[in-house]
Amino acid sequence: VYNFSAGPSTLPESVLLQAQQELLEWRGSGMSVMEMSHRGKHFAIIAEELESDLRSLLAIPDNYKVLFLQGGASAQFSLIPQNLLNGKTKACYIKTGAWSEKAVSDAQNYCEVVLTASSEAEHYSHVPEPATWLIDSDAAYLHYTSNETIHGVEFPDIPDSKGLPLVSDMSSNILSRPVDISQFGLIYAGTQKNMGPSGVTIVIVRDDLIGHAPKTTPSVFNYAEQAKNQSMLNTPATYNWYLVGLVLKWLQAQGGVAAIEQRNIAKAAKLYQAIDQSALYHNPVAIPYRSRMNVPFILADDGLDKAFISAAEAQGLYELKGHRSVGGMRASIYNAMPDAGVEALIAFMAEFERSH
Ligand code: PLP
Repeated sequence: VYNFSAGPSTLPESVLLQAQQELLEWRGSGMSVMEMSHRGKHFAIIAEELESDLRSLLAIPDNYKVLFLQGGASAQFSLIPQNLLNGKTKACYIKTGAWSEKAVSDAQNYCEVVLTASSEAEHYSHVPEPATWLIDSDAAYLHYTSNETIHGVEFPDIPDSKGLPLVSDMSSNILSRPVDISQFGLIYAGTQKNMGPSGVTIVIVRDDLIGHAPKTTPSVFNYAEQAKNQSMLNTPATYNWYLVGLVLKWLQAQGGVAAIEQRNIAKAAKLYQAIDQSALYHNPVAIPYRSRMNVPFILADDGLDKAFISAAEAQGLYELKGHRSVGGMRASIYNAMPDAGVEALIAFMAEFERSH
């Protein structure tokens, strides 16, 4: 089947096969990765390779720490203000969909949120024009969500934060395109879309921004403490680190982030073209901001939704139902979705339109 789930989502088959082969014993260690001490010599290799592979795939400069945490990207909604406010009382946020909305709502427990821009009134169909943004120079940082997984809105470029540390939730488009890390103060992402199974949250943070969290911050959620302890202040999600490591090696074998970006551009272009040419399907997002990863679309007659989902499933096309908050359909086409999956979806959609 082809699995279009928004996350946890489809993984490269070769990664799953390798995990299966190594399930009982990892590289002659006599044990499964699941059974290894996180302080032992075998796991040390897995942890080292994980960080160095991520650093090389994203060209992460040396003055950035890379953390592998738990609690999901959602925990970061609260941990970012706790760790980065550093005595300031305000932070700027751009609202472009359901996930940035949640980030704003949690941040409000810690500081005054300056709403730099919002497309809520237009049903999150675009990114507001930068000329209209309100950036407060007294704010600790500017937060945005580079790809809105539910609304299918993606920033085409890195926004100009006018000198504020830029913070980005890249949960659903990390590793799908090259990014200049040096333009960011902090990047965070849950792993369950482009990087592996759920259970790990990556935080990439410029080292001068950390070390200022108040004493009330739990130590496992204090970036400086975790950085000092290689993200092993407590027991990490060891098996999930290993699986993320396998996905990173798969991505390297695909030619890295620049190469996968070209495939992502081609896959998304094909699917949007099929939607735009049809009389039945419609994508509500303004063209420059359409996500390459999550493609929502609605049917002209929502009475056909159920028939669409069940006919798709009968063809082996799974998890196409849109998020419950927006309805319609959504096809998530992350790095691991093969071209053939997108082709099969397009062919199915055309046939469904013809027969209905
Ligand atoms: N941010 C974005 C953009 C997401 O897509 C998601 C989950 O789908 C989250 C945050 C929340 O992630 P988690 O469920 O890991 O807390």
